[in-house]
Parts: sequence; structure tokens; C-alpha cells
Amino acid sequence: MTYKFLSHVDLEELVAGLASAQVRVIAPVRVGSESDEIEYRPIQRLGDAALGGDLPGRSLKEFFLPPAEVLLRYKQSHEGVPIEKAPAEYSPQVILGAPPCDVAGIEALDKAMGWDYRDEIWFGHRKATTILGLVCSVMDSSCFCTAVGLGPDSSRGSDIRLSPIEGGYLAAIMTLKGEQLLAGIQGPEVNREARSEAHAVHESARGKIESTLPSLPAELPGWLAANFDHEVWNPMALRCHGCRACASVCPTYHCFDIVDEFEISEHGIHEDNSDSCQTSKLAVHGLGRDSSQTHTEGFRQRIMHKFSVYPSRFSAFLCTGCGRCSRVCPEGETLPEFLGAITGLAKPSPQ
Ligand code: SF4
Ligand code: SF4
Repeated sequence: MTYKFLSHVDLEELVAGLASAQVRVIAPVRVGSESDEIEYRPIQRLGDAALGGDLPGRSLKEFFLPPAEVLLRYKQSHEGVPIEKAPAEYSPQVILGAPPCDVAGIEALDKAMGWDYRDEIWFGHRKATTILGLVCSVMDSSCFCTAVGLGPDSSRGSDIRLSPIEGGYLAAIMTLKGEQLLAGIQGPEVNREARSEAHAVHESARGKIESTLPSLPAELPGWLAANFDHEVWNPMALRCHGCRACASVCPTYHCFDIVDEFEISEHGIHEDNSDSCQTSKLAVHGLGRDSSQTHTEGFRQRIMHKFSVYPSRFSAFLCTGCGRCSRVCPEGETLPEFLGAITGLAKPSPQ
């Protein structure tokens, strides 16, 4: 890791230079009639961004895994079914100012997308993207990043992590892509004071975490796998009515459903749509059979995947503690509440 000081003017010039080179720059932006919501949007200049504001309503994953994406088109004719594949070129893009929970979500999905089958569309977008994460300082009571091994100063998944300091940002450069992006910026030498100031910002951010959920114990994945039929599942599951709001905003949820749809006369599309394992119809397959799943089983599937199956394969949780699922749930279903309950069951009591 190397460091550079990035003044506000440096960052302004960087964004303007990227925009004029047709590189898409995506940053948190104020939207809505009262500008009271924040979402990730393309920007043309730094002044359009709301850096360091609240967590955007939707996560970053849509810039890599859109809610609906055409994989191929085809035409039915007497001669056959010619297929036109989705374009395999990916335009360069830069993500600016995403908080650590969203950036870590992308890194978590890298593992899932490159495991038994390599998703070339995902990795096409990933290769074309450079991520400048920003240390977070606006957490609320739904956030619990520290319980899943992250924190407001985590750099996991970032090519560059920005820490706000007097006059600009301390840029911690983590990858070659990050180095290349800032190659044209000289800046003053980073001295001990700048690094101490950034360290104080990190400490202060960690001090603002309100969540009382302790770090999830190493025993949790094994406990879940061994307690598939525990009575703890039903009461929480029955509060969920499967609206999928939590899945749509989650930075790591990646269930999908591939469908064939009629487009225009004799033309069809093969399309990848986001889905959720909490819906009753997720496992209805081509033969029309439903191989799933009671309501409780759907709820359990979501928790098992995030906190048992994925961790046993990749030694990390498939959750970044961003708290979006709790914020959007119309039933007030909060993941920390459930995790607190099962953590108490999973952790061996001290002798
Ligand atoms: S499960 Fe909830 S807290 Fe965890 S990453 Fe998804 S939306 Fe965020
Ligand atoms: S948002 Fe709440 S009610 Fe809707 S699917 Fe998620 S947990 Fe269930």
C-alpha cells in the first residue's frame, strides 16, 4: 500500500478529466424532489456528488449486475434459430466515494461469481472498473459492519481508500489500477501528521457505531448447518411476507432467474433477472414443478447462504452489515435482531 495526498482541486480535475475521456464516473448523488435521498448516479463534475453523505438507498451491485440484463437474442425461423450474444465489451467506469460496506459487497460477489462457474459478464464489468472507497462517518442504528469483520475504515475491495483530512483526502492506494488512476497526481509528500489525522478519522468513525451486535462468532456457520430444524427459524420467518425489498437493496444478494421472453415478432430474448430465495416461487423450474420450499425454508435459505454456506467456502460472511435490509423491511424484520438471537445460541458459554 502507498499513500498520496489528494486535494479537493486534484479530485475535481480527476473527475473532469475522466468525464471528458468518456469514462463513466459513478458517485452518491442527491436525488428526489427535496434532494433528501441519495443514490449512485453517473456524474460529470465533482460538485454533483454528495460525498460523505448518507448511505445510498440502493447498492453498487447494479453497476455490475443489473436487475435485468439481456444475455442473448434469438429469432425463430424455418432455417433455424440464429443467436446474437450480448456485447462482450465493457466501458471503463470509476466508482467514487462508495462506503466500505458497499465496496466490500462487490469483493464478496467476486468470490461467488468466480467459483464453480466464472461469470464473464460480472468480471467484464469488474475489470473495467476502478473503485475509490471513502471512509464512512454517517452510520445509523441499523449498521453493523463491525460485527461481520468490516468497519467504517475497511479497504476491502477498494482500489483506493480515501480518508477525509484537512484540505482533501489521504488516498491509500491498494492496487495497480488505483496507482494508474492517480499516476498524474503528484501532490505533496504524505507526512506523519497526515497519516495521524487519517487514523483519528478512522477511530472517530468506529466510535460512532451504535450497533450492540458483537462480532459474529466463528462457531456460527457450523451451528447453523447443524440446526437446520431449530425452533428459532419459525417466529422470525413468519414476520416476513416475501416482498423481496431486502433482496433488491442488498449489496450481496445475487439470486437470479433466467427467462425467455417474446420481444418482437419471432424474436426472443434470454434474460437474467434478479430474484430472491425468499419468494415462494423461486424454485419452480422448467418442468413446472416447485422443488421448494415453505415460507420458513425460504427465510432460512437466505440466512444459511449468507452466514453458513458462503462462509464455509470463502471464510467470510456474505453480508457487509450495511443495514439496508432492516431499513426497508415493511415488517420491521431486522437482521441484527435475528443474528443476536442465534449468536447467543451458537456461542459456547464461558466455563
Ligand atoms: S443482508 Fe442486510 S445488512 Fe447484510 S449486506 Fe445485505 S442488506 Fe446489508
Ligand atoms: S423486506 Fe422484510 S418482509 Fe420483505 S422479504 Fe425481506 S424480510 Fe421479508
